Amino acid sequence: MWTLVVNCGSSSLKFALLRPDTPDVPLAGLAERLGTDAASVRVDRAGERVTVPLPGGGYPEAFGVVLAELGALDLREQVGAVGHRVVHGGDLFSAPALLTPEVLDAVRACVPLAPLHNPANIAGIEAAQAAFGDVPHVAVFDTAFHQTMPEVAYRYAVPESWYRQHGVRRYGFHGTSHAYVAGEAARMLDRPLEDLNLVTAHLGNGASVCAVAGGRSADSSMGLTPLEGLVMGTRSGDVDPGLHDFIAREAGLSLTQVTAALNKESGLLGLSGLSNDMRELEEAAGRGHAGARLAVEVFVYRLAKTVAGMAVALGRLDGLVFTGGIGENSAAVRSATLERLGLLGFHLDAEANARAVRGQGGVITTPESLPALVVNTNEERMIARETAQLVARGL
Ligand code: AMP
Repeated sequence: MWTLVVNCGSSSLKFALLRPDTPDVPLAGLAERLGTDAASVRVDRAGERVTVPLPGGGYPEAFGVVLAELGALDLREQVGAVGHRVVHGGDLFSAPALLTPEVLDAVRACVPLAPLHNPANIAGIEAAQAAFGDVPHVAVFDTAFHQTMPEVAYRYAVPESWYRQHGVRRYGFHGTSHAYVAGEAARMLDRPLEDLNLVTAHLGNGASVCAVAGGRSADSSMGLTPLEGLVMGTRSGDVDPGLHDFIAREAGLSLTQVTAALNKESGLLGLSGLSNDMRELEEAAGRGHAGARLAVEVFVYRLAKTVAGMAVALGRLDGLVFTGGIGENSAAVRSATLERLGLLGFHLDAEANARAVRGQGGVITTPESLPALVVNTNEERMIARETAQLVARGL
């Protein structure tokens, strides 16, 4: 059975056709700038890439292109399920869910928790259900993996009524990626996942660290929203909660403007005054750009501090996993992070670290060190796997 995996952003739609346990992806692509005159769909099929213009098109038109491509490949009838990435499932979902009308209502109920993300996910689900009405649709939540966090990790020290009445607690995100790379790391270390206490660092444009105890999330650096925790591409990560009121008064900003600036103008971009892109910053730092150098240093310092804190959640630390665009590709970030984490018993193998780029994962520490690994994440494969498992169980 083939699963179509779908990830809808506010003006984008990423899709991939795969089977849970085989590497081939006969069709994949990305629709961008949806709802504008510049809308288009990039389609990757069998080593060939084409871009289909779709002026004014939205999710329904983009799914029209996906259907046509599946038809051309003679695969339309082979699609057995559609798996949707959904950002926020609140505390309502601790596992993937078949998208019945009731489940879709529950996803709607989580919109206040993720006003930037869940509405796009819902619009994508509705358009996909219209286009693929004959197969089961499954929601795979970014938050679900973290529902195993203990109360001591997920509660904030705020008035209890905020928690009881408004769901103010820590949820954690990137769960699909953390779960996937923890499993892969266990395989690479040749040890049962149940016996391993790992810290996984998903470092992309969004970034989070997770304490994974025996395959279950014990803590996450992200909280109520994906803004908490590490320094990210354009997100600040942790700031003093008193900042909002202070800067609103001092700079004459509304709360909405402050939140937007913390989400879109902060992080690596804010610190460097140059870019949110780690590759660009490493190049600029190499040329002596002071802001770029500072941004990378703060990113690494905060990352190392967070990883060390996660060791507390685990009690015993068996390894550290780097993943995401930065974790998989930046040997410099990995090396600087492990240098700061020497006190936990990490010793870098510089050659192995240099080799572990561009799709080459592996252990990057010396034999006597606590292992640190690079694992290439594959959220699409994980979503396909979870979707197929649920469909197999439910039908
Ligand atoms: P993602 O969101 O997982 O696609 O990751 C995007 C981030 O990965 C961006 O900050 C990129 O600059 C970074 N990245 C990708 N390739 C490299 C590389 N070769 N060196 C450093 N950073 C990279």
